[in-house]
Amino acid sequence: MATIPKSCDVLVIGGGPAGSSAATHLAQAGIDVVLLERSVFPRNQVGESLIPHIWKFTDMTGVSEKIGQEGFIAKAGGITVWNDKVHQIQFSDFGYTRPGMHVERDIFDAILLQHAVSCGARVFNEVAVKNAGFSDKQWPEIFYTDKRGHSNYDGVIQCRYVIDASGHSSFLANQFKVRQTISSEMNFLSLWGYFEGSLFVGVDRRSHPPEALATVKPVTFVMSFEDGWLWHIVLRGKTSVGLVVPTERTKGMDKQQREVFFKQTCARLPYLDKLLEPAKFIEGSLQFRPDYSYYSDTICGENYYCIGDAAAFVDPIFSHGVQNALYNAAAATLAIKESLKNEKHRLRYSQLCESRMQQFYGFSRALALGDFGSNGVNPDLVKNLMKSLPPLELELILVASEMTNRSENFRQMAKEAGVLGKFEESFFGRESERMGMLAL
Ligand SMILES: Cc1cc2nc3c(=O)[nH]c(=O)nc-3n(C[C@H](O)[C@H](O)[C@H](O)COP(=O)(O)OP(=O)(O)OC[C@H]3O[C@@H](n4cnc5c(N)ncnc54)[C@H](O)[C@@H]3O)c2cc1C
Repeated sequence: MATIPKSCDVLVIGGGPAGSSAATHLAQAGIDVVLLERSVFPRNQVGESLIPHIWKFTDMTGVSEKIGQEGFIAKAGGITVWNDKVHQIQFSDFGYTRPGMHVERDIFDAILLQHAVSCGARVFNEVAVKNAGFSDKQWPEIFYTDKRGHSNYDGVIQCRYVIDASGHSSFLANQFKVRQTISSEMNFLSLWGYFEGSLFVGVDRRSHPPEALATVKPVTFVMSFEDGWLWHIVLRGKTSVGLVVPTERTKGMDKQQREVFFKQTCARLPYLDKLLEPAKFIEGSLQFRPDYSYYSDTICGENYYCIGDAAAFVDPIFSHGVQNALYNAAAATLAIKESLKNEKHRLRYSQLCESRMQQFYGFSRALALGDFGSNGVNPDLVKNLMKSLPPLELELILVASEMTNRSENFRQMAKEAGVLGKFEESFFGRESERMGMLAL
């Protein structure tokens, strides 16, 4: 069993897409990086719909080919039925030459983590970080429990910089007590499970049996219902179905009652009932995530960076999570590389990184949560980002913002930033041509 070193330049907590990509960027720059991950990979994870934006980041770390070789399902775009209106987006209409994907996250995340190892990062699975000590006088100290081979050994590692990529557990934000949950009507939880034999929604707006995946490109299907929404994502051999509902909806329910609620809701909702008609629920597959959208006012400091879900989580209605994680990994490691070269400016680099990352989270929150996402969002940062986006990417997002009724705040910011352009008159733009009914 490899020995965990006593010190390193950068210590990464967590081996999800954020942590593994950060470790890869650093190792490729010849920086001594250690990553501690508490679970054994492949490990269970939700978040299976990936938008094509991820490729520019996987190209940067050189892992795109390995992802391509795995043969994940390529998706053409998304269809939403929101308040009974049908909207469709195809990535190819916006100049994307590479597809989005539906991925089994346990496999996808393992590819990224293995790539970090092959690039020289020292990765230790089954090692859980317990505490982080910061002081002005010495490097940060990270205290961990090594559970490898059924051991339970406590240790400490010193590092110059800490990257917290611990995902939903937001290790540092919780230790610093700066993590805030978005209250109000946007306080959701998610219940999701897996089905075998479900029909899938094709880019042709029709439903198809799983065998047709060889010939028809699927889309991610999203639908609003009452005060929540659902996703339907076809994978290889199974389909992920998730319900996002206000927290109070399942209040007081135990595991069994939640499962009954989930199955009954899936069976009664239009479109979804048809898609799941021939399908069988995979028993034991139901999972749930309370404590939905959250953020922290401070995510970077002189010697720490919180990235991915460790920094913030936005209702995943637009499948932004993994893209944000990869973006943050690139931004934080750029700041750390510069800081290692020029230590006296390290505070400045961390402040620059903080404002870039908050800009992205603010953008996602304004898009996915509308007015409710404005808690803690700096509108000027978001408007500047809108102004700097390539035209087709901006157009895709403006069209996407029409797909739900969530984006009022986003549209207002786009208007104030002066980027609405032709959408100001007719917001639906080219997407209006696609509105119509689904034949499921
Ligand atoms: C219901 C739901 C649906 C979603 N759907 C989508 C989607 O369709 N598309 C999309 O792009 N995103 C989606 N997301 C978001 C996406 O899953 C996350 O944004 C993404 O996984 C973030 O990656 P990460 O690396 O930050 O965190 P994670 O993937 O959560 O990885 C964090 C890692 O840190 C490890 N860890 C935690 N604490 C410690 C510790 N103390 N010590 C050591 N290791 C630790 C964990 O074991 C884990 O492996 C969804 C999220 C939810 C909740």
